[in-house]
Amino acid sequence: MSLLVVGSVAFDAIETPHGKVDRTLGGAASYFSLAASHFSPVRLVGIVGDDFTAKDESVFRGRRIDLSGLERVPGKSFFWAGRYNLNMNERTTLATELNVFADFNPTLPPSYCNSPFIFLGNIDPTLQRSVLKQVRCKPKAIGLDTMNYWIERTSAELRETLKHIQILMINDDETRQLSGEHNLFRAAKHIFKMGPRTLIIKRGEHGAIMVHNDFVFSVPAYPLEEVHDPTGAGDSFAGGFMGYLASAGKVNDRTLRNAMVYGSVLGSFAVERFGVERLTKLNRAEITARARRFSKLTSFKL
Ligand code: AMP
Repeated sequence: MSLLVVGSVAFDAIETPHGKVDRTLGGAASYFSLAASHFSPVRLVGIVGDDFTAKDESVFRGRRIDLSGLERVPGKSFFWAGRYNLNMNERTTLATELNVFADFNPTLPPSYCNSPFIFLGNIDPTLQRSVLKQVRCKPKAIGLDTMNYWIERTSAELRETLKHIQILMINDDETRQLSGEHNLFRAAKHIFKMGPRTLIIKRGEHGAIMVHNDFVFSVPAYPLEEVHDPTGAGDSFAGGFMGYLASAGKVNDRTLRNAMVYGSVLGSFAVERFGVERLTKLNRAEITARARRFSKLTSFKL
């Protein structure tokens, strides 16, 4: 089933202990779409400037990614620059230039309005809600990502948007900040009162935890010997997660657990190379093989 995503399409400058790139295709919606398209057709909603060339677009071509919702306007595309420290756990944002993204007002092409699965990437919660208002069917699942910036500055708008979504994907600091609870499981109960039924807490090299109804499910990060660039790991996780759910076509305890594994698989591939490169060179056999290794990694008998 089709999966709609709204979010940033950007150019990134990235510096890690493994190297440096001055300008590479990035943005949350780019990582998400490339990851999700391995599972289901994706409908992308975003904005780019006239510096986004046919060559940049070709990264998305030949995949199940519909770009009719990618608006092109005069000016420069969103630009982000970041540097990682030696152990890759901390990142310093060196530049965030919104450029054409500053006036982004997402408009869905009519062909997108019946999307059964939706992911609202990390943008202004008012814009996230405006996307939902344009959807003409009752979606099977709506996921959402946000960050401390929106939790602090647009708390009321974010809470209004949370009333309409089912799956919230944030990191542990954001979970604590949003709920005002230090303990993550108490925090989840608090967040469930705001609207979401499923909370996924992304914890970087410590994996991810899902709290859903009365169960908790935990997936480790895949043990990689070399991480070249952690940028987009969370967005690729989200893409793998939602892409798998959309391909399953239903949300239940089993599909949610499997989605956690496929999210972790896609996140782990994304960080093996700079930018989106690894996601573009990935095939289904590699994804399945790694998902099986996840199963071995976590199974035991009592
Ligand atoms: P992640 O590593 O999952 O946080 O995602 C990094 C990606 O998000 C980069 O490719 C950036 O272009 C993009 N990004 C960084 N800051 C923002 C922002 N404030 N809003 C939207 N996208 C952003």
